[in-house]
Amino acid sequence: MNELRLRLSQAIFGNSTPDPEELELRYPPRALPEGAFVTRLAPSPTGFLHIGNLFGAFADFLAAARSGGVFFLRLEDTDKKREVAQGAAVLLEGLRYAGILPDEGVTAPEEERGAYGPYTQSKRKWIYHAFARQLLEAGLAYPCFCSAEALDELRARQEQAGVNKGYYGKWARCRDLPLAEQARRVEAGEPYTLRLRSPGRETAKITVRDLVRGKLELPENIMDAVLLKADGVPTYHFAHAVDDHLMRVTHVIRGDEWIASLPLHIQLFELLGFRPPHYAHTALIMKEENGGRRKLSKRKDPEARVSWFAEQGYPAQALREYLLTLLNSNFEDWRRANPAADLAEFPFELKKLSPSGALFDLVKLEDVSKTVISRMTAEEACEQALVWAGEYDPALAALMEADKPRARAMLGLDRGGRKPRKDIARWNQLRETFGYFYEELYAPLPCEQPDSAAILRAYQRIYDPADDKETWFARLKSICEPLGYSPDVKAFKAAPEAWKGHVGDVSGVIRWAVTSRANTPDLWAVMRVLGEETVRARLEAALAACAVR
Ligand code: GLU
Repeated sequence: MNELRLRLSQAIFGNSTPDPEELELRYPPRALPEGAFVTRLAPSPTGFLHIGNLFGAFADFLAAARSGGVFFLRLEDTDKKREVAQGAAVLLEGLRYAGILPDEGVTAPEEERGAYGPYTQSKRKWIYHAFARQLLEAGLAYPCFCSAEALDELRARQEQAGVNKGYYGKWARCRDLPLAEQARRVEAGEPYTLRLRSPGRETAKITVRDLVRGKLELPENIMDAVLLKADGVPTYHFAHAVDDHLMRVTHVIRGDEWIASLPLHIQLFELLGFRPPHYAHTALIMKEENGGRRKLSKRKDPEARVSWFAEQGYPAQALREYLLTLLNSNFEDWRRANPAADLAEFPFELKKLSPSGALFDLVKLEDVSKTVISRMTAEEACEQALVWAGEYDPALAALMEADKPRARAMLGLDRGGRKPRKDIARWNQLRETFGYFYEELYAPLPCEQPDSAAILRAYQRIYDPADDKETWFARLKSICEPLGYSPDVKAFKAAPEAWKGHVGDVSGVIRWAVTSRANTPDLWAVMRVLGEETVRARLEAALAACAVR
């Protein structure tokens, strides 16, 4: 090597960088079955897990799981300005809630698992320097001494000249500084960044096969992108190329906002002598608004934040099912054909991802969630509800904990069978839906129906908590006729003028008296869970309220 270049390399990197060859040996190709996918989620710890990240993470997770591969989490914390203190914890919390956990990498704040680490970019400086040195020594990188003001000024001149902005070609002032000058200025302690010396040609194109979008034709990269910032920290572009290679990533699944950077990424892989991974650029998640579509906004839309779903109490299973409907359009057919199958059995395929923006539809999520909750056993529903309430509604959790068999019985109402009840989509609906089971939460409403007092009085006389369902119903029918109500709905419909109403109206009054609801699960079952004492007290109170009015 040219002696001056060696001097420059020495001045920049000293003696402490490892040999790239050593790194190749230290992080060998993974021993995985043929065709296994190695995927990664590579977020910045900005204190926010976006639903779009989760969407990508789920694709990573499924692609790895289905192929016997590995899905890992890498923290891209090179931009200290964007980082927040609990950043990693927030990311992991969101992934944990959704049940989309990485097999490897950062598995808890300050905890890493796996043989390809460190998985936090700020701990990998020495690795990046080894490869930056390789580029510099090959004449593919150079120190740039331009100040921020000089770069602003360059931009202004380019604007005036009507040319593409950026540091490239003849505009790249430091690109062709004599090596001796480069070395001298670095040795003198002048600040510099390390830039790529891009071999790209202005009019050339590259083609990349994207797994979602097919063949992409893009302009070749001509920018002398910054590889290492003035403090020696790499930029995302450079760091991710080194990392994806050494961590032996096979498939990069990420948002399509990265397509514009793809030419630079491909160029970096090539110049570093790495084989680029396969790419799948997914469409952004959109929201429908005023007949149009727009990007889900971190500021405006609470549903952009994964923690919002946890707060609302959507079961993770529901969120996963819903995300799958967005990821693979054949999922819903599969689900219909396999209503009880485990999600892991779904033949997920990256190439079925849609290249156009998926619409995030909360109404549909609610539907999916209702179905998911309706399919749980009472035990599961109770456990999940308690976990949610423990975190977000401690007062409710305490009431449920105080009498767990009752909570389980309440959640078990109209469950099982061919048409299970679907009245709740989120655990934060528990209070509204089941509050009447707890005196502490119950707010009785007066019964507006005519004849309420007569009906309640008649019912009080026949109420027997020991009745089985049939006896209960027969007894209910027995009070109808004397009150002028038909015990039989069909008979009522045949001659409505002959009656004041039918047995359904009578039970409606009783339902209202004991729950203050027009709709509940099966009334007999509800009354069993409420228990004799409560039922009698409520009938009495409702009657008193009728009498007062
Ligand atoms: N750190 C990048 C981000 O924050 C990762 C992009 C990629 O997946 O390559 O989105």
